Amino acid sequence: MAITSQNPATGETLRTFDALTGAEVQDAIGTAHATFQNWRTTSFDHRAALMQRAADLLAEDSESIATIMTLEMGKTLKSARAEVAKCVKGMRWYAENAEQLLADEPVDPVAVGASRAFARYAPLGIVLAVMPWNFPLWQVMRFAAPALMAGNVGLLKHASNVPQCALYMEDLFRRAGFPDGCFTALLIGAREVEPVLRDPRVRAATLTGSELAGQSVAAICGDEIKKTVLELGGADPFIVMPSADVQRAAEVAVTARCQNNGQSCIAAKRFIVHTDVYDEFAQAFVARMAALVVGDPMDEATDVGPLATESGRTDVEVMVSDARAKGAAILCGGQAVEGPGWFYEPTVVADMTPDMEMYAEEVFGPVAGLYRIDSIDEAIQLGNGTNYGLGSNAWTSDPQEQDRFVRDLDSGVVTINGMTVSYNDMPFGGTKRSGYGRELSGHGIREFCNIKAVWIG
Ligand code: NAP
Repeated sequence: MAITSQNPATGETLRTFDALTGAEVQDAIGTAHATFQNWRTTSFDHRAALMQRAADLLAEDSESIATIMTLEMGKTLKSARAEVAKCVKGMRWYAENAEQLLADEPVDPVAVGASRAFARYAPLGIVLAVMPWNFPLWQVMRFAAPALMAGNVGLLKHASNVPQCALYMEDLFRRAGFPDGCFTALLIGAREVEPVLRDPRVRAATLTGSELAGQSVAAICGDEIKKTVLELGGADPFIVMPSADVQRAAEVAVTARCQNNGQSCIAAKRFIVHTDVYDEFAQAFVARMAALVVGDPMDEATDVGPLATESGRTDVEVMVSDARAKGAAILCGGQAVEGPGWFYEPTVVADMTPDMEMYAEEVFGPVAGLYRIDSIDEAIQLGNGTNYGLGSNAWTSDPQEQDRFVRDLDSGVVTINGMTVSYNDMPFGGTKRSGYGRELSGHGIREFCNIKAVWIG
């Protein structure tokens, strides 16, 4: 089977790689397992020095790797550069903080009849990361930096359309001096994941991607009694109340929806607006969406590049057509862009009804749904009214309303007067079918640790 790198702006095949054979995957697991036996005993200082070196190298490579990202999955070059910078920051953050985040936690020895007692965060071993293409470096780095700093070793099964990014990451860690087997990219298809998960040397898995992929990996890991972290889809609400700065909300709403060409799990997807400010918001939002420049992602002037895959664009087309056929109003856009590449117009859809697929489902492209509500109760009910619970955004200057949203929105992240962003210092993850477990912050690095209770008499 071949793994292909294709330019979504043109459809042109860039490079093709042979997938690893079963024997090659076994070798990679064997090397990772052997490496772990030493790696787990290395000091935080040693790991941090290597991680800082990898961050230095990545910063030096910024332009070349950002270009590969753009050519391989279509994000704009300026957003690819920003993603590289975010990875550098994340690597340094874990290099600087891992030791303190994983410090032994003392327990009162008298309470447990010991001379000394504590909880230790010990590494688990090989962790498999199954990752998506949409943030081809950041998704990987936010797994790899904490995992390696904790003393684990990583195997990466990256999305099949970003093999060059996958191989770059492996090479980056090798050049920085991490031993062979510390971080290995497995160029394999989704069907080849199961034997890796079932291998007893592989101790845990993290998956970022679709619900179906998450279900499959979690089911196999359930069968094998292995820990998983799942970061899945989202249909995040963006609520605008009458006391909000409506013009500012409309401006941020465009970024929140169209960042990464509309292909972000934490993109705001459902814009839920109070009737008192609905017309003002809709007018400003639609004008800004319609003014976005769609085109070559290598061009500095471009706001929205192509969707990453042809099938991804077809999914978007089907959902918008379904809404249109059932009576929704298309306020701007609503069509695929003719010509080569997998471009889709920034689109705003209003007057939706629950029988339309995009009413409560995730649209993975630059398509916003607009909903009118009359009260905060209705806003919260609609905001929570999907199977997802990744991020929620609410705009209001009323402190009581802010407290209400923080308390009642059922999602892993709640953002008031802003848009959902991931930060090194804050936990990141979802509720309901958006998944479980957390990445980033101290919570993220502790997910793949054995919390060892130590009692010394
Ligand atoms: P996807 O099809 O699930 O692919 C993600 C990864 O899972 C790829 O490496 C894919 O490999 C692999 N995969 C797919 N099916 C699998 C299976 N049955 N068993 C094992 N591995 C499997 O997702 P996508 O369409 O690329 O990404 C979009 C989705 O990811 C959206 O729903 C988005 O919201 C979600 N996402 C979530 C987060 C988050 O943090 N919560 C972040 C980014 C994206 P192949 O490429 O070889 O198929």
